[in-house]
Amino acid sequence: MPKKIILLGATGSIGASAVDVVRTHRDDFTIVAVSAYRSREMCEAIAREFGAKAYVGEEAALRAVEENEADICLVATVGMFGLRPTVAAIEKGMDIALATKEVMVMAGEFVTALAKRRGVRFLPVDSEHSAIFQCLQGAGNSTVDKLILTASGGPFLDGPADLSGVTVEQALNHPRWKMGPKVTIDSSTMMNKGFEILEARWLFDVPVKDIEVVVHPESIVHSLVTFVDGSTMAQLCPPDMRVPIQYALSWPDRLPAERAKLDLAALGKLTFRAPDPVRFPCLRLVKEACELGGCAPAVLAAADEWAVDAFIKGRIGYTDIAKVIEETLERAPRIEMTSLDDVFESARWVETHLKLL
Ligand code: MG
Repeated sequence: MPKKIILLGATGSIGASAVDVVRTHRDDFTIVAVSAYRSREMCEAIAREFGAKAYVGEEAALRAVEENEADICLVATVGMFGLRPTVAAIEKGMDIALATKEVMVMAGEFVTALAKRRGVRFLPVDSEHSAIFQCLQGAGNSTVDKLILTASGGPFLDGPADLSGVTVEQALNHPRWKMGPKVTIDSSTMMNKGFEILEARWLFDVPVKDIEVVVHPESIVHSLVTFVDGSTMAQLCPPDMRVPIQYALSWPDRLPAERAKLDLAALGKLTFRAPDPVRFPCLRLVKEACELGGCAPAVLAAADEWAVDAFIKGRIGYTDIAKVIEETLERAPRIEMTSLDDVFESARWVETHLKLL
């Protein structure tokens, strides 16, 4: 029997890659429902192709989960829209193939505890977390010394250290991955990598102090795990989101696929370096939010969402993004995370607070 999949956020770039994976493995996977926020035509076309139900609009993702049964819910919605549907899918006992970072960033403490209670698994879709997940297969408990997340470094890795004059066009010009505008800007500030630290912290239950970031511009090594015996394992492949998506869906199996395979001799060399803390202050802000605990990471993510939007609309400068986040973190009330409502309350506080700016 093919695995039944609900695909939330079907019309984004992850959604398109997921559809491609399912299309080439029809004996293994079937899509039963798809949701999109806006693109009705595209969403309905996907639904037609797979004989699935289509849901479009604000409550689409939640309804797709509530009205359908599946083995796996692939969450690839934009930002906070992923939270309620993810919780609903966990409640219904579906495994979660997770592409929407905000779910772990904003509500990791809550959703991982809930998933544990319900006996539901998180299957990482993010390339870095898929790499770590793959390296951890067969590893025993308490064998991890540290996780090493690789980062492409984005468009501002080299060049002038003063980034205050960066334009929206420059920030949207990512050298490796084609993604939506929010995540592309987040990659340029390395906030995306910061979010991935939080995501790894909750997905793999490893403290933030044991998670490192290393810049690797070639984006071939997708992340690594160092074990207590001094051995380090890495996962490598040419950048292609279909690889981690397919693994999340096929796990614990691997399925064959016609796509570019690694050619180390053609690559010649792979390079690594430490991220520059002055150029990329967002990495420090993530660690601070994590130390504050409770809903502070949700505040961080909500402030970033506001700041990136304000930057894209030309209301603030590029380096103001980190400043806005830092200032918001300092002022936000400390809220413990006991439910999803605490997360939404924190996000609402951020929105109200920043509206006054
Ligand atoms: Mg990533």
